[in-house]
Amino acid sequence: MLLVKIGFVDKNKEKFYITTPLYYVNDVPHIGSAYTTIACDCIARYKRLRGFDVCFLTGTDEHGQKIFKSAKAQNKSPQEHCDFITGEFQKLWKLLNIEYDKFSRTTSTKHTHLVQEFFKRVYDNGDIYEGEYTGLYCEACEDFKSEKELLEGNLCPVHKQRAQDYEEKNYFFALSKYQDKLIQFLSSTPDFIQPEFRKNEVMGWIKEGLKDFPISRRSVSWGIPIPNHSGQTIYVWFDALLGYISGLIDDSNEPTIAEGIKSYWPASIHVIGKDILRFHAVYWPCMLMSASLPLPKKVFGHGFLTKDGEKMGKTTGNVIDPYELINTYSTDAIRFFFMREITFGKDGDYTKENFLNRVNSDLANNLGNLLNRTLNLVNKNFNGEINGDPSKDLLQLKSKFDSTINLYSKHMDNLEIKEALDSLWQLIDSTNKAFNDIAPWKLLKSGDIETTKCCLYETLIILRNISILTYPFIPETSVKIYKQLGYDKLDKYSEWERLGFNSLGKNIKVTVGSPVFPRLENKT
Ligand SMILES: [Zn+2]
Repeated sequence: MLLVKIGFVDKNKEKFYITTPLYYVNDVPHIGSAYTTIACDCIARYKRLRGFDVCFLTGTDEHGQKIFKSAKAQNKSPQEHCDFITGEFQKLWKLLNIEYDKFSRTTSTKHTHLVQEFFKRVYDNGDIYEGEYTGLYCEACEDFKSEKELLEGNLCPVHKQRAQDYEEKNYFFALSKYQDKLIQFLSSTPDFIQPEFRKNEVMGWIKEGLKDFPISRRSVSWGIPIPNHSGQTIYVWFDALLGYISGLIDDSNEPTIAEGIKSYWPASIHVIGKDILRFHAVYWPCMLMSASLPLPKKVFGHGFLTKDGEKMGKTTGNVIDPYELINTYSTDAIRFFFMREITFGKDGDYTKENFLNRVNSDLANNLGNLLNRTLNLVNKNFNGEINGDPSKDLLQLKSKFDSTINLYSKHMDNLEIKEALDSLWQLIDSTNKAFNDIAPWKLLKSGDIETTKCCLYETLIILRNISILTYPFIPETSVKIYKQLGYDKLDKYSEWERLGFNSLGKNIKVTVGSPVFPRLENKT
């Protein structure tokens, strides 16, 4: 079987624009937002390695009644509150080693300009009209609810709080007009909604009939004013989604839609939690159609996290505090656990036991020990330097190695993050097994230097590739491994080109440092 490595791409041609949701700043960041952002960062790092011209955007959604109330409760102005919480998000992303390119804030001046321009576009297209809304509204969701969607006593199924009667003279967006167009779009773009099983949910909503919805508020002061109409602000979702475009504009440039869409728009993928699927898979494409703007290529709705099998909630105290996890363990351990343990797209559970087991067995034992044993042998017996011939294939892992790289890339391109890591760890397991079977320490004793060298050389080749392939997930550890293997710098934009079962290069001298991933202890 001939395998051709999935290759490096030409960054002049291939752009990749990925977004997290713009996180709502009513409260400090929680583990759910961290999970989404880590996943996006891993995908973005993988694409950069592959050579894509990547833009990774995250940010904050800062308008609406809930934020106004949160600010008031703390005796802050809404803007002070937004600045503070946004700062908390940025701090956490730094601690989690998130390498975003753009941070979009919906209270920025450029965003306000852009939203108002967008409103005018849609208005001029005849899709905004004045009307009167009577119905139910969940303030926590910032969303309108039909009685059918609510639980007994009009409780919101997500927030378990009562949806309020809502009656206002508003501007409406003519969503219903786009029903057929949206169905057409979804059937001609079958992978727009991912994972596949979320599509049925969306098709269900559409079949029930899309209803026009109010996009202005009389009662909400903390929002973007409707152009030329005093006293009303724009509905938070009709505002926030535009942050994916406004966030692309450099502050020195004209804050116009044309400027926003000229470099990276349309998004290659919006990664979101499943709870905001309707806004991204129904409202957003219709809004863009109305404004004659290109639609994003993909919306990926991931699942929710639970702790010890239970839903997390502030009131029950059953939460995972991301800061506590980072302080107790390490950033790479956290990044690794959530990506390795949970099928991306499905719900996933965190228990401390699983966390420690997973991280210790995969990182400290399987990868860490293989690395340490190899480096020690090379260092002690060959003064850190070793030559060899990769074509010998003593370990008989070359074909497994080639198929792993292909499988890994295929999975990453399909956003099957866990499966990509599975394939990588199968290679690590096989390498450990082959290494143990050949037992170079025994060969040394028996004086078979050539076979020993060959075994160590091939193991170093595999480790070198593994350090590159783990870079998107555990960047700090990966770079440490790369250095211990004798290379000065892992080039995060082009290292993919050097993947392969090939020579280690000239004058490469390994160094034995401290273990790159010490075993984690159970701390409480
Ligand atoms: Zn709700």
